[in-house]
Amino acid sequence: MVSDFQNPVAGFGVTFKAMFKKRLTEQYPEEKKPTAPRFHGRHQLNRHPDGLEKCVGCELCAWACPADAIYVEGADNTDEERYSPGERYGRVYQINYLRCILCGLCVEACPTRALTMTNEYELADRSRASLIYTKEELLAGLQDGMVDTPHAIYPGMDEQDYYRGLVTEAAPGTTRQAAVSKGETLSDQAAGNEEVQA
Ligand code: SF4
Ligand code: SF4
Repeated sequence: MVSDFQNPVAGFGVTFKAMFKKRLTEQYPEEKKPTAPRFHGRHQLNRHPDGLEKCVGCELCAWACPADAIYVEGADNTDEERYSPGERYGRVYQINYLRCILCGLCVEACPTRALTMTNEYELADRSRASLIYTKEELLAGLQDGMVDTPHAIYPGMDEQDYYRGLVTEAAPGTTRQAAVSKGETLSDQAAGNEEVQA
């Protein structure tokens, strides 16, 4: 039993002990803590090593999503405008991060490993529209050896060869095709080609 006289001293004792405890306060956003390696963050739509897209527009991710956060519209590839090695590609792809609970079920459902999750967790914004990520925002950036879509399939290869790992970079001389179905003009295409070459 602590007497009235001892109360202030006992109170300071608690403060004194706390001074030597490990600090739990994090100085976010100035200091960002690294996430766990398998953290479920923002999604990414992956590419094959030559830049063609892995998404085949099958919508399995959308059907698997318990929050109805994914919207997909598939379309047919043509030889003049090819986005993926096979028959179909994801023409429209959206994830609504106001709905997404980052459970990862969509990633499990994807048959081509087109969809994975990154470690990026800063998904706050001020408008509803900016939190509906489009295909252009979700598509992985171009790495060395890749050419942006649309472009031709690697000569002599078929879709299966891509999944066997036989295509490791874009074929020499691969150039970007005109994205006619998306309303891209020839000047847009020229700008895109400059980006690819830069
Ligand atoms: S992580 Fe879960 S909630 Fe988010 S889009 Fe995928 S399935 Fe839907
Ligand atoms: S991300 Fe995967 S599951 Fe979703 S539409 Fe594309 S290929 Fe199908």
